[in-house]
This record gives sequence, C-alpha cells and structure tokens, in this order.
Amino acid sequence: MEILLNRLRAILDDKGLVTASSEAEPYLTESRGRYRSEASVIARPVDTDQVAAIVHACSDEKVSLVPQGGNTGLCGGAVAGARQLILSLERLDRVRDLDLANNTITVESGCILANLQQQALSANRYFPLSLGAEGSCQIGGNLATNAGGVNVLRYGNAREQVLGIEAVMPSGEVLSDLNGLRKNNTGYDLKQLLIGSEGTLGIITAAVLKLYPYPDHNATALVALRDLDASIELLQTVSHGSNGSLSSFELLPGLGMQFACQHIPDCNNPLDDSHDWYVLLSLQGSGAALGLDAMLQTLLALALEKGVIVDAIVASNETQAERLWRLRGGIVEAQRFEGGSIKHDISVKVSLVPEFIHRAVDAVKDRLPGIRPCPFGHVGDGNIHFNLSQPLEMDTQEYLSLWAEMNQIVFDIVADLGGSFSAEHGIGMLKLEEMQRYKDPVSVNLMQSLKKAIDPDSLFNPGKVLP
Ligand SMILES: Cc1cc2nc3c(=O)[nH]c(=O)nc-3n(C[C@H](O)[C@H](O)[C@H](O)COP(=O)(O)OP(=O)(O)OC[C@H]3O[C@@H](n4cnc5c(N)ncnc54)[C@H](O)[C@@H]3O)c2cc1C
Repeated sequence: MEILLNRLRAILDDKGLVTASSEAEPYLTESRGRYRSEASVIARPVDTDQVAAIVHACSDEKVSLVPQGGNTGLCGGAVAGARQLILSLERLDRVRDLDLANNTITVESGCILANLQQQALSANRYFPLSLGAEGSCQIGGNLATNAGGVNVLRYGNAREQVLGIEAVMPSGEVLSDLNGLRKNNTGYDLKQLLIGSEGTLGIITAAVLKLYPYPDHNATALVALRDLDASIELLQTVSHGSNGSLSSFELLPGLGMQFACQHIPDCNNPLDDSHDWYVLLSLQGSGAALGLDAMLQTLLALALEKGVIVDAIVASNETQAERLWRLRGGIVEAQRFEGGSIKHDISVKVSLVPEFIHRAVDAVKDRLPGIRPCPFGHVGDGNIHFNLSQPLEMDTQEYLSLWAEMNQIVFDIVADLGGSFSAEHGIGMLKLEEMQRYKDPVSVNLMQSLKKAIDPDSLFNPGKVLP
C-alpha cells in the first residue's frame, strides 16, 4: 500500500486523498448499516485523466478498487475490504455540455441527481430519473446500478436515459462514447453493458443524457382501492385513457399509511376512512396536455362507477400534490420505527403483482404468525418492495436472524411466477447467493466470461455481482 500511496500522492492534489479515519467515515459506512468498509485509503480524483492514472497505479500494485458514488446503494456494492482502494467520483461533478438543440446534457459521473434535475429545469427541460436518495446519490451510481424510481412507467430506467458514456476500463484505457447519437448501430452497445454492472466492468466518468420537455402540468390523486386486485384494473383504465401521460402508479398498503401517519411529521391520510390498499398516481404533461385534471377526474369517476375504487382525492394544487407524495416517502421512512424490517425488492409481470402479494403474504404469515407485511411501490412496473415488519412483541435480532429463511420463502414464489429477485437495487454483495440459486446458469456463465475478458485480474469491485 505504501508504494501505491506515494503514486497516488503524485497523481492527486492535496484534497485528493483521504486517509485520516475521521474524514474517511462517510465513505466507510453504508445507508442501511449492514456493511462497513475496512479500506484505509480513499482517492478523490477531479478528472478522467486522474481516474485513468489511478487505475494504472492500482493495476501495477495489484490493489483492487471499489468505485463509489453517493454511497446510497442498498446492496453493499460500494463497500471495500482492507486491501482495497475506494475511488470516490464525487469531485467529478461538472456539467460538460447542455445542448438544447439536441435535448441532451453531458455530465460527469459525480453529479448529484437532484443537481442534475435542477440543471435541466433551469433550461426549461426535464430529467425524469427520480428516487428517494436523489439528494445524495450520483448519476454515475445511478447508471452503475441502472436505478429505477417513481417515473419508470413513462420514461424508463436509468439505462433508457443514456445516449453515451465515458468510462475508464480496467486496462486504464478510456472508452469515450460521448457523441450523443440517438441512432448508432455499429456493433455491440458497450454503454449498455456498463450500465447496471455495479462498478465491476468500468468506472463511469461521464455520460450524455436525454432531456425532455418540462412537464408544466401534473395531476396527482390518492385513490382507495376496492381490493388489491383492483390495482391492476385501475392501472389498465388509467393507462389506456390518459393519452400516454401516466408517469407514476404506486401501491400503498393501509398498514404503511398507518405507519407514515403515526411516525412522520406532515403525513396525513386525506381520505375519510382507512382502507387496505391505496394507489398514488400522477399524470404529467406540458403545453397541449393541459386538461390533465379533468382527464384524471373522468377516469376516476369511471373507476368509481365500476366499483374498482371506493374513494379518491385529486390534488387541487402543487402543495397538495406534494403532501400526497409525502405519504409515499413517509412509508419508506416510517418502517424503521416499527422494529426490524426484512426487505425485498422484487418484480413480476405487472398483471401478476396481486397474485404475488397474496401468495407471499400468506406464506410469510404461515411461517411467522404476527409478522406485518408492508408491500408497497412501483406496481405500474411490476416492482414491489415486499417489506416485512417484525411481530410486535418479538426481539428484533431474533426476527432479523430469519432474513435468509424469509428470502427463500419470498424468492421461491417470485421464481415460480417467472419474476426477478432484484428489480431495482442490484446485487452488490447482498444477493450473491440468490444469483447462484435463481439466475439461470447460462446467464451467470456468460457474465463471468465477460468479466474475465474485460477485467482479467479482477481489479474492479471484485466479490460483487458475480458469485
Ligand atoms: C432512501 C433511498 C431510496 C432509494 N430509492 C431507490 C429507488 O427508488 N430506485 C432505485 O433504483 N434505487 C433506490 N435506492 C438505491 C440507491 O439510491 C441507488 O442504487 C443509486 O442509484 C445509487 O447511487 P450512488 O451514487 O449512491 O451509488 P453508490 O451507492 O455509491 O454505488 C452503488 C454501486 O455503483 C457503483 N458505482 C458508483 N459510482 C460508480 C461509477 N461512477 N462508475 C462505476 N461504478 C460506480 C458502486 O461500486 C456500487 O457497486 C434508494 C436508496 C435510498 C437510501
């Protein structure tokens, strides 16, 4: 390490190296506190050349490196061992180009997602990727994990926002594809290979991203459903009748609403009675799309008439819409006040979401009476955060010791329905066992071959993604 440290000192400026334990702390702990990095050196380059020089130095000294963005990942992907270097991209945070004629923005990977959204907004454009951690996650981390969020239904995942990528490869070469072309069929699409690879194939240093017209009008509603199955009927009604403007369609369980209203300030259920299942939905549009409120009112009236929904409130202004969305965020935050929570981030075909929830709820209740399932999330994409709060009287550690067993119960049902055990958050270190158990062996073998071909010495993020 000492030789590497000397080389790093020669590459980086005086803010480029963190070795003091007090300063290192934020890079070592991760958001759920499941893992802790043991690395003692954090490199903070300012440009792509410095990243490439660090990669060369690490390669020579045989020290593997772990790229780190905002460190908000939920699978331990940015966690480093004692003999590894954390490569933080936080200082690569410039906007390199804002091209309004082509509706693109070229940013460095350390740009915080919320800042990027703001940059787009200041040019009267929209960057649609939006998730709970947007105030601290970085676009490089979003691309490395192919992040999802609340607007996937209309705009797609992170990978669908990308027109080009710049990345430093394990050889130290820079893959530069920042032309911003919307069509380019010249062989394999390497940027898409890097997106979702969780720092195991390349270090993303910049990207060209798509911008959209700013949706100057939103119509948001909180709806109480007849029952869980009605969520899919409502989704059909709204997506067919809303002229392509449906951007979010989130399932909220009655128990989650209860948690949020009890524990989180500013969370109130605006509907008169409590219900088992709700949907929070938004239509978005710009210019000619004005009239979304009326469209939403008409669609909800139809759903009410058919008995699909039993109550609804449409936000009459931006502040009310924000209050409704606060409930969605509140459900995420409130679960920690209810003791241990065993979490899953699964997907099945959209039409199978109710069947999955019915089966999985029954199965976990059979295993542990008193367990409190709180499934919520992106039902419009078939992606449910199947979270399980502990029984009220149970010891938290005893409950959390059932995590692996609960995983198997839940993931077996997911597999039976042809779904995915990891829809949004990735694999990292957390889901290596599941990769082995549930991912088809041909895919895993191909991934291993690709990893070997691109990174033969396992320099980038070893021990992540692949078993
Ligand atoms: C409150 C909260 C809400 C969340 N909501 C969502 C959600 O709705 N949808 C969703 O998909 N995720 C969500 N997440 C998970 C997380 O925010 C995302 O995975 C995010 O994209 C990670 O970005 P990051 O910059 O924090 O990356 P990090 O956590 O730093 O890293 C994540 C992975 O990417 C790699 N990596 C980071 N930067 C680079 C780079 N420049 N080049 C190569 N590899 C890199 C790391 O090595 C690691 O494997 C949420 C997390 C929290 C805490």
